[in-house]
Amino acid sequence: MVDLTAADDRSADLRHGLELVAARVRAACATAGRDDEPSIIVVTKRFPRADVDRLHQLGVADVGENTAQELEEKFADPAPGGPTVHFIGRLQSNKAGVVARRADVVHSLDRRKLVTALARHRPAGSPDLQVLLQISLDGDPARGGVAAADAPALADLVAATPGLLLRGVMAVAPLGADPDAAFADLREVRDGIRQDHPQAGWLSAGMSGDLEAAIRQGATHLRVGSAILGTRASLG
Ligand SMILES: *Cc1c(COP(=O)(O)O)cnc(C)c1O
Repeated sequence: MVDLTAADDRSADLRHGLELVAARVRAACATAGRDDEPSIIVVTKRFPRADVDRLHQLGVADVGENTAQELEEKFADPAPGGPTVHFIGRLQSNKAGVVARRADVVHSLDRRKLVTALARHRPAGSPDLQVLLQISLDGDPARGGVAAADAPALADLVAATPGLLLRGVMAVAPLGADPDAAFADLREVRDGIRQDHPQAGWLSAGMSGDLEAAIRQGATHLRVGSAILGTRASLG
């Protein structure tokens, strides 16, 4: 753990970022007439483990990472009572072991092969790995996600697999798309899946730039990085 003294400027910046986002969420919920606030997953990718510790000290319960490498580096020894760790990035089957061991929730399952890989690597005695299906809203396979038409069958497979717990769906709004329309499509996919799987009600949608649209469309989980932590270093 970092030494978190009152004079830690970075903690003060993070607290400020959290407050700004909380205010946006409250305002958007009020405008949308929602009294159920979504959970905020703070996306710590490309920021150091020390920031995860600061956020945890500030009361953050959920953090997100998008590469297996960072999961392995930053969460090598997940402390009991630490934040819930969400894996939100492209998932490769040869990295499924890391994700199955270090993450509590995976948002990006999008093909059958990953179901077996994740289940096989989930350590015995761990709680079920919670799974969201990533839905492709524009049919561009390069960006990941299962086509909406194929999602119900994949949901059935996850739900039938021991060690995995189907929770819902996730998407990133396609570039240039109207985020409200995209998230409304996502919600429809979720509603279809939930008819057969009542526990699969999570709607993971909305990032720093489009969280208001996601709240209007019923998001239960927002994934917010830069609005809280600042601009990320570009990938070198
Ligand atoms: C990085 C990332 C986010 C957070 O993006 P910001 O714009 O920094 O809020 C959310 N979801 C996914 C899948 C990401 O990779």
